[in-house]
Amino acid sequence: MGILDWISQSAKKLKDVESLIGSEQKDVYEVYQRNIALEREIAQRTEELRLANQTLLTLEQVWDMMNSSRPLSSVLETIVSSLYGEFGYIYSFIAQKEYDEKGCYYCLKTYLENEFALKLTEISSDNIFDIRLYPKEGGIIENAIEKKEITYYISIEDFIRENIKNFDEQKLSEFIKNTNVNTIIIFPITVYNQFNGFLSVFSPRKELKDDELSFLNLFSRQIELAITIANLFETVKKQAVTDHLTNLFNRRFFEDALHREATRSLRTKQPFCLIGLDLDHLKKINDTYGHSMGDKAISTIAQVMTNTSRSVDIPSRYGGEEFFIILPGIDAKGGLVAAERLRASIENAEVEGLKEGITASLGVACFIEQTTNIDELFEMCDKAMYVSKQKGRNRVSLADGDSITSWQDVAIDAFVDILTKHRIPFNKKIAQNLVDKLQIKQNDSSGSSTQEMLFSIVDSISKTYFPLYQDGITKNKVTLATLIAKRMNLSKNEIDKLKIAMLLYDIGNTMMPKEILKKASPLDKDEKDEIQKHPIIGAQEILKPIGSISSIIPIIEQHHENWDGSGYPNNKKGEEIPITSQIILIVDSYFAMISYRPYRKPYSVEEAIKEIKSNANKKYSPELTEAFSYAIDEYRKIS
Ligand code: GH3
Ligand code: MG
Repeated sequence: MGILDWISQSAKKLKDVESLIGSEQKDVYEVYQRNIALEREIAQRTEELRLANQTLLTLEQVWDMMNSSRPLSSVLETIVSSLYGEFGYIYSFIAQKEYDEKGCYYCLKTYLENEFALKLTEISSDNIFDIRLYPKEGGIIENAIEKKEITYYISIEDFIRENIKNFDEQKLSEFIKNTNVNTIIIFPITVYNQFNGFLSVFSPRKELKDDELSFLNLFSRQIELAITIANLFETVKKQAVTDHLTNLFNRRFFEDALHREATRSLRTKQPFCLIGLDLDHLKKINDTYGHSMGDKAISTIAQVMTNTSRSVDIPSRYGGEEFFIILPGIDAKGGLVAAERLRASIENAEVEGLKEGITASLGVACFIEQTTNIDELFEMCDKAMYVSKQKGRNRVSLADGDSITSWQDVAIDAFVDILTKHRIPFNKKIAQNLVDKLQIKQNDSSGSSTQEMLFSIVDSISKTYFPLYQDGITKNKVTLATLIAKRMNLSKNEIDKLKIAMLLYDIGNTMMPKEILKKASPLDKDEKDEIQKHPIIGAQEILKPIGSISSIIPIIEQHHENWDGSGYPNNKKGEEIPITSQIILIVDSYFAMISYRPYRKPYSVEEAIKEIKSNANKKYSPELTEAFSYAIDEYRKIS
């Protein structure tokens, strides 16, 4: 091969290699290009996923909130602010349709208070809180709402010119220059009979993407749901505190309100009045015209009560035909005026189909002025209402502050009776001494230590038959019994009876042979039988003749009956035994255990509590044992 041949051959090879390299280069370049496209797609998909995630998260947040029982305004606020920043939005608000003398307008119900809002308000002479959007007839907003379709403004200037009445041209052009809002999207929001308005979203983009629209659409449906749910919560809440026949507050709400008002009244030293009202002769109306006429009479009274009440008053239906109104800040004199006005309005009210009309009997009692105890206030008001009935109905009576006799008065009377009529075997001189003490105290108006005096009298009487009785024990027993009773939600009336019973339950022991009580060794069967008679002796022989404490006697008679039926004298069990008797039993047992006895050492407090607890469901009901455990802790803190 000549040199020329070799050169041309080499040149060809070189060409081949070159073209080979060129085509591989092309392949590599293609792969490279494809990779870049793939990466771009991955990034795009990731971004879409991120957005979808974020959207879901936002929707989830909104959903969670809707299921809480927060007020609507707070729910909507969170919705609007969660939208801010989503898809890069600049601003959003929810507007609701209202009417004024100029016609219909939209007020901003929920909006963000950010810098954008401030700038927007500067254009208008209105305050942000009452910017009113007066929509143009056939304009974008009206169209969106009428057709229930999503629409949008393609410039913020259009939006402002179309809807805001008073704006400053110069400030507007300034504002437009400095804003990057390009579209304002309007989503109609309608909840039948409850809400008519729209959600608006300010976007920096000129075009709207499909997924963006479907997200916002979903969002506005969420808002509609939130409004529906919030209204439902409101209705349920209202139903829980109102009476369905009359729409007045119900008994539970009234009782809570009475407590709240009393607390406030004591703090502010301002009085409040309670007016009680009972429909006259409802039974006759029911019997003559039927039950539905009776219902109509009740509704009429309720309507009159609502019409004559101030917004701060609390008119309530307490029971069937018994009503109460709490009048904050009103004294007895004002309460009488209000009650008289109410009485006259009821008398003048017409009940369709009831020729003779209706009347009511009213009672008025005043907190602070007449009492500072709500149970007493309620009792006084009730009594005053009863006085109105007795005096011939259709009238108003003011409670008589003196007509309430306290438990101390009842107890004093009982002891004076027992001691002066010598119902217990007692040294006459000592008896007279005690009576003098009782009567001095009864005439003393301070009353502050009346109970202390009563406790010391019981201590003295107890010592005559049981010399080991310690001074102060009576007070401690009454304190613990009261704590247990309160824990068990007993009424004031029952607690008062319990207190009197606590002073008298062992009075039968004064009739017991002294040898038994003082005995140093455990009792034999006959002696035990003798001891077991004391609740009966006490109740029947000593206390029965005293009329004013007739309701206390059954409590005392049963204070040795056990929950499981193993007690005495009648082996009663469970609910057959009055709670008050069971409380006396548990308190008596506790103090007996921690006291010294000739035949045993006293229990420690812990041992006594343990012993009581071990008798749950045996001597005492489980509820009582639980109330005791709680009360004893309280008691140890204060004694
Ligand atoms: P007085 O003037 O003494 O209050 O007489 P009265 O008939 O209104 O009172 P009484 O306590 O003797 O009877 C009350 C009646 O009210 C008996 C009860 O059936 C009726 N009542 C209670 N609640 C309702 C109710 O919701 N609707 C109707 N129609 N009657 C009711
Ligand atoms: Mg009645």
